Amino acid sequence: MACNDCKFTMGTKSTEKLTLKDREWTCPNCGTFHIRDINDSKNILKKMIRKTS
Ligand SMILES: [Zn+2]
Repeated sequence: MACNDCKFTMGTKSTEKLTLKDREWTCPNCGTFHIRDINDSKNILKKMIRKTS
């Protein structure tokens, strides 16, 4: 799980990795509030765009 604003990854720098039950989370690095499903779909979209270009 990575923040799509600052690319901070949960589970690094003594933060806890998010589990499946964590539907919402706040990035400890930039303070952005994320709803997991939306953040995930944004990340997937970015990957798809990268693949096709
Ligand atoms: Zn962030």
